Amino acid sequence: MGQKLCIFCQNSGLSKEHFWPNWLRDYLDTSPSDKHTTEVYSGEVNSKAELENKLERSGNLITKKFRVVCAKCNSGWMSKLEEKIKPIIVSVLKNQDITLNSDEILLFSKWIIMKVMVAEQNHQGTQVTPNSDLKSFYDTNEIPDYYRIYISKQRSSHHSGYQRHSCTLGLSKTGPLCDMGGMERNAHTVSFLLGPLFIYVIACREQNIFLWREFKLNHMKCVYPYKKKTLNLKSLKYLDNRLVRKICGRYPVQVKRQAHDIRRLQQHDRS
Ligand SMILES: [Zn+2]
Repeated sequence: MGQKLCIFCQNSGLSKEHFWPNWLRDYLDTSPSDKHTTEVYSGEVNSKAELENKLERSGNLITKKFRVVCAKCNSGWMSKLEEKIKPIIVSVLKNQDITLNSDEILLFSKWIIMKVMVAEQNHQGTQVTPNSDLKSFYDTNEIPDYYRIYISKQRSSHHSGYQRHSCTLGLSKTGPLCDMGGMERNAHTVSFLLGPLFIYVIACREQNIFLWREFKLNHMKCVYPYKKKTLNLKSLKYLDNRLVRKICGRYPVQVKRQAHDIRRLQQHDRS
């Protein structure tokens, strides 16, 4: 097997790094006895996704580590971006209703997309962002135009969670797909729970399919692309457990689906 390279700068020297920043632990209620579960489901056209495997691991979900970026990226531009958005995340976790300006909203969006790009690498064969776009993000920090980000507040029983659906979408079941760039999947939805914050990301590289319209996310706020000058966190609606689950569990039905996978990381309820 060839040596794995950093997904962003393409250099060697990968380091195992925490997915969520360490300082998050000061704001979330975690315990050494916490556990988390990884579940992988997959399915073909019109079939229900079947559970492929389930892994139970010790440790809180926010302590999860990935090995896909080099130490230089991780401790360099990635950690700088993380430091810049720290006040925003801390305000959300403390339930302080601050007002963000458009620059802060964009920075926050870039941080979310950076997390999505790292997390999707954990599941080989299901990535959606092509290498060329990872490289552009590294060079310019620009978010690919097929991404949309929605946020709200949440009142579910979990304070951390991650769920990702990836799929192959085309305008017809058997017809041609968009330029797949050598990849198997061209669309995904990614849900994160971070304390009271619920983040939902949608990307579809088939330009004629507008998943965010199909999903009707009117109870969430679209923060990327963001058209206004400011956003007060007070304006975010609280979604209950049922609605959060419903949104996380959604996958495209109106458009033609060729295959899909679900990757779920769930925090255990503390006993
Ligand atoms: Zn790197």
